Amino acid sequence: MKVMKFGGGCLKNCEHLLKVAEIIKLEKDSVVVIVSALSGITDLLEDGIQISMKSSKNVSEIISTVRNLHKHVAETSIRDNEIKQRLMKDIENKLKKLERLFYGIAYTEEITESIRAHILSYGERLSALVLSEILRSLDKDAIAVEADQIAIITDESFENATAILPEVKKNLSSTILPLINKGTIPIITGYFGCTHEGKVTTFGRNGSDYSAAVVAYGIGANLLEIWKDVDGFMSGDPKIVKNPHRIERLSYYEAAELSYFGARIIHPRTVEPLVDVNIPIRIRNLYDLKSKGTEVFGEGYEREDVIKSVTYNKDISVLRILGPGVGYKPGIIAEIGGIFSKMGINIYSIITSQTCINLLVDRKDSRRSYESIKNLVGGIIEKIDLEDNIVLIAVVGEGLLKRKGVAARVFSAVAEESVNIEMISSGASEVASYFIVKEKYVRKTINAIHREFFEKVESSGLQNPSF
Ligand code: ASP
Ligand code: MG
Repeated sequence: MKVMKFGGGCLKNCEHLLKVAEIIKLEKDSVVVIVSALSGITDLLEDGIQISMKSSKNVSEIISTVRNLHKHVAETSIRDNEIKQRLMKDIENKLKKLERLFYGIAYTEEITESIRAHILSYGERLSALVLSEILRSLDKDAIAVEADQIAIITDESFENATAILPEVKKNLSSTILPLINKGTIPIITGYFGCTHEGKVTTFGRNGSDYSAAVVAYGIGANLLEIWKDVDGFMSGDPKIVKNPHRIERLSYYEAAELSYFGARIIHPRTVEPLVDVNIPIRIRNLYDLKSKGTEVFGEGYEREDVIKSVTYNKDISVLRILGPGVGYKPGIIAEIGGIFSKMGINIYSIITSQTCINLLVDRKDSRRSYESIKNLVGGIIEKIDLEDNIVLIAVVGEGLLKRKGVAARVFSAVAEESVNIEMISSGASEVASYFIVKEKYVRKTINAIHREFFEKVESSGLQNPSF
């Protein structure tokens, strides 16, 4: 049994949807499909929420935009009139409910986290309907299934929920497995689940990859295929390095590290449900079926040159908490952590010395995080600085900690470009090492490391890993 997940990048227009349907149709084994919303729809719903909070005037326009996009796709990709009419009716029914939700927030000028999640879930509810009817029009037995209808139960963290795996497994065995057994392909909505009380929660933006992993766990799949509009993980960002290589194999931990950075090939939490049960992931390119993509497994392997990818994150800021005794005094990090966690601010990484604690936070949270702790200055904390114009670079590869000389090669490659490294965090993970440089040096730094590890020797071993 295989789970196939198709993201918004594969669901842009009628040609794409037909291609997706063809790929599903070619499958001989039982499959379960997870879909994201059609490309751009979740953004549209997010904007719709902002607009409706101000006035009810534009609700009908938002609904017509969503309607037109879906009806156009339905119109152009389905020939059979009966199926088309049924789909149009189903779309209308969903839109009626969505419209009520929008008017609700417009009139009350209030929104709860669960109503927000509920509104945002409509992109997937609609795309699952569309894809299932396209498959039916191609004589394939498929049915749209909504995540709350089959009880993909989560905790109550409404926009960054975590699935409660044993319960999901139990619920899927009575809802999804019978469908598979009778030869029907379930087209399940990605991105959201629900609490025990049935309130909608989401897994955060781009969370459908995580949904797919949860379902793979829940049905005991032997493979999770994530279909994208790119080849898979690369040795460097194609926008920055000239000749990046596709990475054939990664371990779960390497993939998780890389997912926080750069191209964000999969959602960083995708591997979470899979690690214990060892279900492999394969990234596939919808537009290049010959490409083998990247496989992500439990078992890692060491590349001869150790590093498999160099990547970066520009959306990061550093808060420096300075004082002669900050590293010595207990409780400072706990206090700040408590403040941040109440505000929903995530700390990416902490690098400390005796006189300075450096906290890496999302750039979008940088001001808020600074404001929330600046009154701690006085006493042990002498001052707090916020630096925005930095970039976090990561080198990732199994064996990084164990093999001698790798860090030296990384840092001397960077030094040869006269780029100053502002901070280093090494040893926290066995497969990744992070450091910080000024944002203006990102291209220079990435290229220097990529040249050192991937462009020097002809046969890098990357395409043909030996085990
Ligand atoms: N549709 C949601 C988003 O755009 C979830 C996803 O695409 O995975 O964030
Ligand atoms: Mg998306």
